[in-house]
Amino acid sequence: MERLDKILSHAGFGTRRDVRRLLHTDEVLVNGTPVTDPSFHLDEKNDTITINGEPLLLEENVYLMMNKGAGFVCANKDGLHETVFSLLEDGYRTPYFESHLHLVGRLDIDTEGLLLFTTDGDLTHRLTSPKTRCEKKYFVRLAEGIEERERGAIEAALKKGVHVPPEGQESEFTALPAKIDWTQKADELYLTISEGKYHQVKRMFAALGGEVVFLKRVQIGALRLDESLSPCEYRKLGADEVALLNNLSE
Ligand code: URA
Repeated sequence: MERLDKILSHAGFGTRRDVRRLLHTDEVLVNGTPVTDPSFHLDEKNDTITINGEPLLLEENVYLMMNKGAGFVCANKDGLHETVFSLLEDGYRTPYFESHLHLVGRLDIDTEGLLLFTTDGDLTHRLTSPKTRCEKKYFVRLAEGIEERERGAIEAALKKGVHVPPEGQESEFTALPAKIDWTQKADELYLTISEGKYHQVKRMFAALGGEVVFLKRVQIGALRLDESLSPCEYRKLGADEVALLNNLSE
């Protein structure tokens, strides 16, 4: 048995004080009966909670997509910079979420675009396991454009697997085959890779003699960034979007 305010707080409804307010302003039913007492005890497994007519699914995982803005670090805490977690509303910054909500892969501080947060450890494992080879697509702007006559050689090198030298503590590696999609502009392109090594895209282009000046992730597996999200905005994924992520083959 657990207190109602604790359950609601853990489920993302804010602090105990927020929950008290919720219990007085909104209609919270436990097994169909209105409850306003925050210390009411219930059995999370067998009792049902309804808030303004919406059943609360306690076992349900949370999936959020953020359009990451530049300047935020993908870490729970950082002494120097703001973290992507600091952009989440208070409901997601409860002790429960602090220990369960995590990132599915990280982006560098200056990288923008699609970032996933979830409480679903199984999904995270599947998306980030090297075995899955989940594709990630990035929009890349280079310091200097790649002319048409150079493109064949770049495509061939990426298809074969670019050898990336070590960087700091990070070892050298040969990248898995990657795919490039050119745009109308010589300095803008899309790169699709199926691994997630440290500074991977920047290091791959450096190895090819280029310099990435802007990087934005636009797709993970079959899930595309919702471009209507402004930088730093986020929203829950729809069930169809979660299904897209789950349908990745291993
Ligand atoms: N590759 C990079 O170099 N940086 C990122 O943030 C993601 C992929």
